[in-house]
Amino acid sequence: MHELLGLDLPERAEGTPRWCFADQLGDHFVDDGSDVVLVEATSVFRRRAFHRRKAHLVLSALRHRAAGLGERARYVRAATHIEGLTAAGVGPETPVSVCNPTTWGARRLVRRLADGEVGPGAGSVQVVRERGFASGHDDFVAWARGRGEKRLLQDDWYRGQRRRLGLLLEGDGQPVGGRWSYDDENRERPPKGVTTLSEAVTTAPLTPLPDPWWPEEDEIDAEVRADLDRMARDGVQFVGEDGPRRFAVTTGEAEAALRHFLEHRLDAFGPYEDAMLAGDRWMAHSLLSVPINLGLLDPVDVARAAEARLQHGARLASVEGFVRQVIGWRDYVWQLYWQQGEAYRDRDALHAGTPLPPWFADLDADRTVTARCLSDVLGSVREEGWAHHIPRLMVLGNWALQHGYDPQAMTDWFHRSFVDGYDWVMVPNVVGMSLHADGGVMATKPYASGGAYIDRMSDYCRPCRYDPKVRVGETACPFTAGYWGFVDRHADVMGANPRTSRAVAGLRRLSDREALLRQEADRGDAAP
Ligand SMILES: Cc1cc2nc3c(=O)[nH]c(=O)nc-3n(C[C@H](O)[C@H](O)[C@H](O)COP(=O)(O)OP(=O)(O)OC[C@H]3O[C@@H](n4cnc5c(N)ncnc54)[C@H](O)[C@@H]3O)c2cc1C
Ligand code: SF4
Repeated sequence: MHELLGLDLPERAEGTPRWCFADQLGDHFVDDGSDVVLVEATSVFRRRAFHRRKAHLVLSALRHRAAGLGERARYVRAATHIEGLTAAGVGPETPVSVCNPTTWGARRLVRRLADGEVGPGAGSVQVVRERGFASGHDDFVAWARGRGEKRLLQDDWYRGQRRRLGLLLEGDGQPVGGRWSYDDENRERPPKGVTTLSEAVTTAPLTPLPDPWWPEEDEIDAEVRADLDRMARDGVQFVGEDGPRRFAVTTGEAEAALRHFLEHRLDAFGPYEDAMLAGDRWMAHSLLSVPINLGLLDPVDVARAAEARLQHGARLASVEGFVRQVIGWRDYVWQLYWQQGEAYRDRDALHAGTPLPPWFADLDADRTVTARCLSDVLGSVREEGWAHHIPRLMVLGNWALQHGYDPQAMTDWFHRSFVDGYDWVMVPNVVGMSLHADGGVMATKPYASGGAYIDRMSDYCRPCRYDPKVRVGETACPFTAGYWGFVDRHADVMGANPRTSRAVAGLRRLSDREALLRQEADRGDAAP
């Protein structure tokens, strides 16, 4: 068992100031009314080019937390965390405690600080157990051990979470409504003939769908914006566009966003959680990943609040679908990040070493790409640093998988470009779920698919210059052609997997196979 899991750490530490990282900003990361040390570590932005919106959200959240704490806040701007702690007066005689942080790198740092290998001296930092998730590491370790040789399936983990937390259960421990999953009632195609989902969702049985909850910027946001402008003038590189803040950065805002989502948008979330509309990037998604990942909302509270909507007539399939995301998928991803070890990020089971072409890596790719789906999603990333799950998985990830983009470069790209990107969540989602670079730990088969999937689940294809049904020629859909190119390159892996072997047989039957493969080889890394 890796010692950085911290299974032997104390749960709490009262009476010492609490040092909180920028993703530990809610009240549940402190134990009492002691001071809170917050370090704005500016070197982070000098090392890698983050999306401008993400930099804004993190700084805004930190500064809002300090403002909310008033005299309890010890707020320090410094190049590094170590310098910040020293500047905040932390030392062996004046120690702080910290909740076990969320990445391998940060955990190593706090242990070295605790041992006095770096920083103000041994005993300056005391580490307590992690928070902000719906399970402890010991829960997952026990669950994984109990499975023996069986796969660590998300669905089984999620059922166990519901049992352990008593969520969506009848008195006899059976699932509410008699089923654990309502996926078959969710995941519908987008409604036809509309530009936005709210045009379609106007009447019962679904609650009419208003715009998402949007925050109002204040003087702290104005100050952050001015600081980021100054940093950009001084040579710090950002990617993406600046624009109005879209996501909650305080607990009060996060609770308002959650309430609004549950009352007005949860019903439509379930049926349309996988659907895409070019004119509606938000659909009925919650936009809560940013505040949850900043530590502003506890995921168990979020799930219980969703469950409580059943008493107000909420659609059970939508409630179940949302709870599955928040305590099932999110915790599964978090726990796999640790359970698979630090080398998980380096996996490359499909030997996919293609560097990201500049047109993809730069966040103005939508201006050169003509494939309508890819252009639109890349535009959403440039403008907002956000796209919902299916554009991430089935457009961006699918494209990168088909073309063998380097998994580590893709993880870095996602991490820097998305407002909710953190190491613990990007590594499993990109290396595991999206690029199948873990050889099937997370997903039983690669999430590769042709244009037919995108056509079924979106309104992208009809006005596109390509045709999802065409494989070869001027109008060949690059996703459809790319899919067959992928099947050809990985025929050995796909052929050996019962869930994908039919694709290999299908490839062999294609009359235009040779022409298709020539076309894909000629395409190289050109923008579609
Ligand atoms: C390639 C790829 C990269 C991703 N990167 C991130 C990331 O950096 N940060 C991130 O929070 N999510 C990530 N996700 C998961 C998911 O796409 C986002 O959580 C979601 O789109 C955020 O929008 P939302 O808050 O409106 O979510 P909703 O669709 O409303 O879902 C509700 C909540 O469920 C949680 N959730 C659902 N699925 C996942 C998942 N697979 N992993 C973790 N949490 C999940 C999130 O907290 C989310 O807020 C990624 C998915 C893929 C396929
Ligand atoms: S035809 Fe192909 S490239 Fe065009 S929008 Fe559809 S899936 Fe995307």
